[in-house]
Amino acid sequence: MTIPVFELLRPKTLAEASELLLKHGDDARLIAGGTTLVILMKQRTVYYPYLIDLQGISGLDHITADGEGLRIGAMATQRAVETSLLVRRSFPALADAFGKIGNVRVRTTATVGGNLAHADYRLDPPPVLLILGADLVLSSPKQTRTVPIKDFYRGLYETALEPGEILAEVRVPPAPEGSRTLYLKYSSLSANDWPCLGVAALLKGNAKRCDELRLGVGGLAEKPLLIEGLELARNETITDSLLDEIARLVDEQISPISDLRGSEWYKREMARVFVKRAICALAEEDPHL
Ligand SMILES: Cc1cc2nc3c(=O)[nH]c(=O)nc-3n(C[C@H](O)[C@H](O)[C@H](O)COP(=O)(O)OP(=O)(O)OC[C@H]3O[C@@H](n4cnc5c(N)ncnc54)[C@H](O)[C@@H]3O)c2cc1C
Repeated sequence: MTIPVFELLRPKTLAEASELLLKHGDDARLIAGGTTLVILMKQRTVYYPYLIDLQGISGLDHITADGEGLRIGAMATQRAVETSLLVRRSFPALADAFGKIGNVRVRTTATVGGNLAHADYRLDPPPVLLILGADLVLSSPKQTRTVPIKDFYRGLYETALEPGEILAEVRVPPAPEGSRTLYLKYSSLSANDWPCLGVAALLKGNAKRCDELRLGVGGLAEKPLLIEGLELARNETITDSLLDEIARLVDEQISPISDLRGSEWYKREMARVFVKRAICALAEEDPHL
């Protein structure tokens, strides 16, 4: 497979990259790690005469933390997040989700921004970023705006990015004190394949009393979802009937797409299994029990 001829533009600043995007419109696309875009161009699924390379822009690959939480630059590689001690200590489920992407060759080249902006319905990191209440910083010559990740995904491969906007940074606020998080990826084909589905859970409390529960799911609709209505679990004991009620709530909100990793029916069944499994794992892991 050869790649069709294109011109590689190499801006030195985010503003310059945005201007190039605006100038070339639908003829141009940003390229970060290139792991998805190059495959799609080789397959002739998409074609852009201009690729705008983000690699030459400095200051976009940071991973830092302060009192307001974690900041990850869009050009940080997925492997850098997976192996970052800062991320592993404060947000272990996030490091885990990045570490479960594809294989180490992909993760070493592919970036955080490329993953999130690609907006595939099966991505691993978004469910975790949803339960952590992450914000995405979008930059353009006109303005820099912050969009909660729950509002970033609009549909299949559709995001809130406006023409000329570039995803610059991911901000993750501190998790609620005393909460624990978990990401479960279920691959129905092979261990390092795209997920059939992914479930991220945040639990504050324990099996006897749930103070707060959040659930994020991937692969179960056209976009990653933050499950709504989980206040029903607040101050409740985690019993089989509560788990059934939560699974019903999830089932009402998902709309799985049948694909080679499973039919809609199969994904609904597996969603029930993995949602319950994630909650039980966190409830039983409580260090105070
Ligand atoms: C073999 C293989 C297996 C994979 N398995 C998984 C998996 O299991 N789970 C998973 O979650 N992902 C998986 N992926 C997807 C992988 O994470 C993507 O390749 C990655 O998401 C794309 O990152 P990239 O930096 O290479 O982006 P690119 O390929 O360079 O770009 C991807 C898209 O994002 C846009 N883009 C890039 N950066 C920005 C930015 N900063 N702002 C706005 N738009 C931007 C580009 O214009 C392009 O449309 C897999 C990929 C491969 C090739």
